[in-house]
Amino acid sequence: SSSTVNSDEDNINVVVRVRPVNEAERSRGEPVMLEFPGKGQIICNGTTPNKQPKVFSYNVVFEPAATQEDVLEYSGVKRLLEMAVEGFSCTAFCYGQTGSGKTHTLTGRPGLMEKGAGPYCEGHGLVVRSFVYLFRLLRNRPECHFVLKASFLEIYNEKVIDLLNPGTARKPLQVRWSKESRSFYVENQFTVDCEELDDLFAVLEEGMRNRAVGSHAMNANSSRSHTLLCVRVRRDLRTDGDVTCSTHGKINFVDLAGSEMTKRTHSTGKTLEEANNINRSLMVLGYCIAQLSDGKKRGHIPYRDSKLTKLLADSLAGNGVTLMIACIAPTRSNLNETINTLRYAARAKKI
Ligand code: ADP
Ligand code: MG
Repeated sequence: SSSTVNSDEDNINVVVRVRPVNEAERSRGEPVMLEFPGKGQIICNGTTPNKQPKVFSYNVVFEPAATQEDVLEYSGVKRLLEMAVEGFSCTAFCYGQTGSGKTHTLTGRPGLMEKGAGPYCEGHGLVVRSFVYLFRLLRNRPECHFVLKASFLEIYNEKVIDLLNPGTARKPLQVRWSKESRSFYVENQFTVDCEELDDLFAVLEEGMRNRAVGSHAMNANSSRSHTLLCVRVRRDLRTDGDVTCSTHGKINFVDLAGSEMTKRTHSTGKTLEEANNINRSLMVLGYCIAQLSDGKKRGHIPYRDSKLTKLLADSLAGNGVTLMIACIAPTRSNLNETINTLRYAARAKKI
């Protein structure tokens, strides 16, 4: 596609979601450290020895009372979906410490589709709601023919595992460069043609089920792996019934490893290479975002240094759109990780 993103609009949107205080925190009587004065601001109390509050500002802040539907409506993900339909590469990713609400926000709980709860219960996250919105967009364009293909991967210890083909846990997939499309792709990954909304739901359910099984088999905590659900959207524009041209867009939904992992690798007792690999993708994503936000867009961005950043390169670079959802917990025991996440998110906003 030769189109470029309108330079008037940022190509990364950063929002923050604060989860509610949980039962354990409530029973310990843990204080809440955050205040929400509005206008996308968060005041973080007790951060320095002299207890001066710190103020952070973002595009949007979702307070603990915000619903899943609020996140669909106000995070900017609808714009990503509209752009994917127009042929752009888009990514929505959740960043934050383990237990901060990344999976709740993105996919919600598995098994809900099977129970016939429908896509509008609070357990359903952004992915389900995005699928519903995407199909609404396609139905509004009867003059176009659309082909949707979905895939679902997990990256653990720099190994790419196909969540739609669990056998790959023993034989990981390779990431390769395509000269033709000038982007990275995953060799032999399973892709599902999705003609109906239910086909997309089935991919989500299947992948989440396999993630639970696979991480158990590998003795790996899901907080150490990244998942990447990708929906490719081919749009054929027709004139008088003849196909005249196609656009190729996509949207990635990425549930990142827990952000606390960037430090804990040094204390796992694994070999240095393993320790480096476990969070290589997370660290390199941080470097790429830092480089992009330094206004060094034409300089070297180390996309090639990890599997995840290879696969997200086209949506992080000039011709794509990215939504970062920084997830945080509001109470005192989480304060250090919360500040790390708020800083990371504030830096990303400058891209
Ligand atoms: P993560 O994926 O970041 O490790 P989870 O999404 O698993 O975190 O969330 C941890 C726990 O908190 C889960 O039990 C989840 O259901 C709950 N939770 C997270 N965010 C919310 C929210 N906004 N509202 C209600 N419960 C939430
Ligand atoms: Mg999770």
